[in-house]
Amino acid sequence: MDQKVALITGISGQDGNYLAALLLQKNYKVVGITRSSPDSILPQLAYLGVRPQEIIWEQADLLDYTQVANLIATYRPTEIYNLAAQSSVSVSFKQPISTLNFNIMSVLNLLEAIRIGGLTTRFYQATSSEMYGTVPTLPINEKMPLNPISPYAISKSTAHYMVRNYREAYGLFACSGVLFNHESYLRRDGFFVNKIIKEAYLIQEGKQDKLLVGNLNVKRDFGFAPRYVEAMWLMLQQDLPDDYMVCSGTSIYLHEIVHYVFDRLGLDTNLIEISPALYRPTDIPDIYGDNTLAKQKLGWDYDMTFFEVLDIILAEEEQARQKLK
Ligand code: NAP
Repeated sequence: MDQKVALITGISGQDGNYLAALLLQKNYKVVGITRSSPDSILPQLAYLGVRPQEIIWEQADLLDYTQVANLIATYRPTEIYNLAAQSSVSVSFKQPISTLNFNIMSVLNLLEAIRIGGLTTRFYQATSSEMYGTVPTLPINEKMPLNPISPYAISKSTAHYMVRNYREAYGLFACSGVLFNHESYLRRDGFFVNKIIKEAYLIQEGKQDKLLVGNLNVKRDFGFAPRYVEAMWLMLQQDLPDDYMVCSGTSIYLHEIVHYVFDRLGLDTNLIEISPALYRPTDIPDIYGDNTLAKQKLGWDYDMTFFEVLDIILAEEEQARQKLK
């Protein structure tokens, strides 16, 4: 059988790193797309045992249709995993125009390039639980209507509808993976769990006085990134395309996470300071999903609690800090 070709946009992000490692293990030819030079992400990939020469690197602007169409015509990928996005809800309130522009137009360019090119490429779009906003009942499942309440969520909702439209109107094998928060040691700086862990260590080392946080009285459904990228791959191996919830099926308060990390590091919780300036203009009080379809149809297997995930990330962080000493 011919070697499968996977094109990963956003390969420099957390999910892109884990997905690249997974697909290389499965003997794919991996084409990695970044906006700039891949040099800055090589340490993360090396951390996962991936050597730079195992990936074909392409620098591209996904907002430029010509570049996107050329890439797709050149590699004729078996599968595209579209992970590139302005992925922060908080940033989207500060930069709504660029968030909407990039998160919508990049997806449209990719779908159009597949359609116009007449290819059978299978397409995975990274969408988000944020699209559901405040809902009357939980857990969220694939049949519920969207109710986005941030520029980020609006951008992902538009992408979600476009994926459905290209599937129904043109028969593209396009799937939307509705991923709930998922974390790892490779999560980008600035995201909640990464911030809590990094800053808690700085406090322990005497390099920071206190932890400044926003609203901790909200609940989220958190999972483990390396396991979530397996679900992305499974979606593109099915007979028919569909949309799936990828989640743990339960939510925890953000304050539970902070307290767990402080407890594990032996820190005084009086050092946690709530700053209303860090609150989002609108926020979802509680959200968790129903992963039944992903488990039954994809055979995706997930049963980790988020405290188990935190233990893994804390152990990796501890190991990295020991190496630096
Ligand atoms: P991430 O770490 O933020 O990586 C996203 C990548 O997108 C970046 O590394 C960046 O790579 C690329 N990118 C291209 N254009 C961008 C722009 N205008 N602004 C910012 N970045 C841009 O994201 P992730 O956590 O791996 O998540 C992967 C995808 O899943 C994203 O689409 C995200 O929205 C979605 N998602 C994530 C979660 C989660 O909990 N992690 C949950 C739901 C959905 P270059 O700079 O190299 O181009």
